[in-house]
Amino acid sequence: MLELIEFTVTSRCNARCKMCHMWQRSDPDIPIEKVKEVLASRAIKDSLVNLVLTGGEPTLRGDLPEIFNYAFENLRKLRYTVFFTNSIVPRLAQETAKKAAAYKAQSGRDDVTFTVSLSLDGIGRTHDTIRGVDGAFGRVMENFLGLKAISKGSLFNVNFNFTVQRGNISDGGALAMLEAAEGALLPVTFPIVYGKDVFLNRGSADEWAVQDEEYREGAIRFYEEAVRKTDSGGLLIDNGAYYSQVLSQLKGGPRTLPCLYKQKKACVIDADGSVYLCEVTKESLAGNIYEKSFDEIWNSPEREAAYARMVRHCANCFSCCVGSGRYQLTETWQISGVSGIAKLSLREVRKRLKRVSRLIKEYRYAVIPRL
Ligand code: SF4
Ligand code: SF4
Repeated sequence: MLELIEFTVTSRCNARCKMCHMWQRSDPDIPIEKVKEVLASRAIKDSLVNLVLTGGEPTLRGDLPEIFNYAFENLRKLRYTVFFTNSIVPRLAQETAKKAAAYKAQSGRDDVTFTVSLSLDGIGRTHDTIRGVDGAFGRVMENFLGLKAISKGSLFNVNFNFTVQRGNISDGGALAMLEAAEGALLPVTFPIVYGKDVFLNRGSADEWAVQDEEYREGAIRFYEEAVRKTDSGGLLIDNGAYYSQVLSQLKGGPRTLPCLYKQKKACVIDADGSVYLCEVTKESLAGNIYEKSFDEIWNSPEREAAYARMVRHCANCFSCCVGSGRYQLTETWQISGVSGIAKLSLREVRKRLKRVSRLIKEYRYAVIPRL
């Protein structure tokens, strides 16, 4: 039974990123009825915890809020929902977020966290160059401020997904963003960019990955600093276990981080209907939803064969998001009252107290006038 699906609901994109060929594809969007049919599958309906809608640029789909609405109303185990946006058109991202958040409120799903994640690749020109769009960095900032303004009252969360890659390691942008994340208490995650062969990225994988020798030292310095800041409770989003793992792998250690894909609890559905058992390799292709039902694919011998091919890639895999990062963001903050606190280590309690006291100090100006 699946806990997480990364659903590429469109391959359309309004950016021209160097590291991704998605915008050169011409798949028609997966019709909403097909998306609903997949989410209603036996392997998904009563077990899905985390729904990730991505693209292309998913906000180019006007019916994205309706997809979320279907999930809110029909997936009882659902706890986390997110869409990623490149912020090229802030208005689209904000309208989508507002509408989806309204659906969440209407469905009474207070148990579901809804997040808008803004993709960021560097500061200023570096981000513009990587995205292939002049002014793209400014639009991310505009989008962040706009989304923060309309998310008042905790309708949804907004965060940055800052991909650590060659351009921002060599110009110091990644370290500057890490400082900003600590200094201004910004919600930022820092996944490392690693080679993928899915989504037609094979040809450009080497252009952006930092695990190559030339960039390795810079990446090691970055993650050493990220681990130090997380350990001291300085970062709002505690993704320390993942940063430690990346650091260890950059230094030649093995991957030890759990992975929901490897545990057979997650999959990726691409915009052309392909079902991949993980986000890293095309070799994990198990079938296509236009040819068979999702349940047929999930219970097929082809899936077992795809799994055997996929796990050959695990030892050197830097994939962050599943079984570590995204879950950890919320899990580290969820404690069930006094009994929950008692279960935490002293170190963890100290980290959390530091973050809470910094939050209070930082946002006192907003709280005190309301008291
Ligand atoms: S990385 Fe994202 S924003 Fe850039 S072209 Fe690919 S899908 Fe579009
Ligand atoms: S290759 Fe990576 S993402 Fe895929 S199953 Fe293995 S560890 Fe997970």
